[in-house]
Amino acid sequence: MGIRYCMNNPDHPIPDSIRADAVFCSQKCGWQYRNRKKATETKEFQKIERDLYTNYRIIKDMLQKDISEISKDTAIVLGFNLSCHTGILGIDKLKGIAEFKLFDFSYIIIGDRIKFKKT
Ligand SMILES: [Zn+2]
Repeated sequence: MGIRYCMNNPDHPIPDSIRADAVFCSQKCGWQYRNRKKATETKEFQKIERDLYTNYRIIKDMLQKDISEISKDTAIVLGFNLSCHTGILGIDKLKGIAEFKLFDFSYIIIGDRIKFKKT
């Protein structure tokens, strides 16, 4: 069998004394690898959570001001992430328009406008 290398650090050879299916050279490398992976995943989840919250706040603030429609550009400047929602309520196949759910709100994108409402 050839030399095996550590999944945490490809510069680390895996000693022959470690079991054949091992992917790390040491426990320490295993912990480092899993901790790094977990931290990366946590960051990705937190980014999605932040984007959902920002979208929610923007829609809520607009509806409180009786504004139910803004331009995509304005939405983006405000921090709205057009692809961050909590589901799809429906699709108008003829018009090619999806109604996106965002907790108890929904929005549709028509041309360069975003229209939202409370569901
Ligand atoms: Zn290692």
